[in-house]
Amino acid sequence: MSVPASVFEHPSFDNHEKVLFASDPATGLQAIIAVHSTVRGPAVGGCRMWGYDSPSEAVTDVLRLSQGMSYKNIMADLPIGGGKSVIIKPKGEFDREALFQAFGRAVDSLGGHYISAEDVGVSPDDMVSARRTTRHVVGLPQGTGDPSPTTAKGVFFGIQVVAEKALGKSSLEGVRIAVQGATGHVGAYLCRHLAKAGAELTLTDINTDALEKLAAELGAKTVGKDEIYDVEADIFTPCALGAVINENTIDRLKVRAVAGAANNQLATREMGAELMKRKIAYAPDYVINAGGIINIMGEIETRFDRNWVEGKLQGLKSTLAEILDAAESEGRPANLIADEIARQRIEDARAGTRHAAE
Ligand code: NAD
Repeated sequence: MSVPASVFEHPSFDNHEKVLFASDPATGLQAIIAVHSTVRGPAVGGCRMWGYDSPSEAVTDVLRLSQGMSYKNIMADLPIGGGKSVIIKPKGEFDREALFQAFGRAVDSLGGHYISAEDVGVSPDDMVSARRTTRHVVGLPQGTGDPSPTTAKGVFFGIQVVAEKALGKSSLEGVRIAVQGATGHVGAYLCRHLAKAGAELTLTDINTDALEKLAAELGAKTVGKDEIYDVEADIFTPCALGAVINENTIDRLKVRAVAGAANNQLATREMGAELMKRKIAYAPDYVINAGGIINIMGEIETRFDRNWVEGKLQGLKSTLAEILDAAESEGRPANLIADEIARQRIEDARAGTRHAAE
């Protein structure tokens, strides 16, 4: 019998504060809640339900996602930490309401150290079910609403920074941008911002009807879903899937920068160095796409208002500029620089907390 590797030795463990394994045979719940850091406040991050092939795959996913939320939240300078949860989707029929109530009980057992929202495979209605057993959930239907417009605005600001730093352009007028996932929740809002700013757009999406409609509205070109990697443009903007910068696509890119909303755009960390070798600038995804979590703060923090959101989005711009400048001057990949800044900020916050306690 093989001995399972310890979670402490997992490559994405990265000093997680807590990892809770929750099981409830009555409802079929098997969930893992990972709390990466609470040093700035409760760990906030979505709950993903997925048909994982094995529990170890679920562990890998939750640790990686939780670390990512921690980095995203600290880079956006939010008064929260980072965490994430996954539910291993039960096989066959199951009672969804009961499952999410059981999940809520697991969340509640952490006494507010973790606050859940929805992620892939989980809806606002599921959060309503979880809310019956814990108050530590956000993303409710009567909450702050669709975060996508705020995410899109943050990505738009990020693209302006990238155009300035990587292309030397102070405006997006005439900048050629290829958008993947153009008709999605974030993509459509973003494309409208870009078109208004004068960018020349080439769009793709698997939803071809919506794609043709949007392209007609914005006077944009369209290409098939696999052709987007070959488009000659200034910026490639992934707004659909993760891992789109990989060993099969990287040599096809004919752009000078990659900047978009999708989470986990790089298939591996090494892809950041590969982009740099090809003189392609990269806007780290968790820095540029933090608008959604900034918006969700409205359900956590009472200080939230439109001006606060705008200030945070402007903050993302300066953080991204700082990262791109460091990448240029140090000749190192932007994704690694972003990770280092995030880790340093978490360490500084920990040290600050320790000092305050002394
Ligand atoms: P969405 O599902 O609304 O949009 C995704 C779009 O991509 C859809 O229009 C879909 O048809 C299209 N698509 C799927 N596969 C494709 C393919 N192979 N080629 C081209 N198009 C394809 O999702 P969303 O909420 O707009 O999020 C988009 C991305 O941004 C995701 O990676 C998400 O994790 C990330 N993100 C979203 C938010 C947010 O506020 N919604 C916040 C942070 C990050």
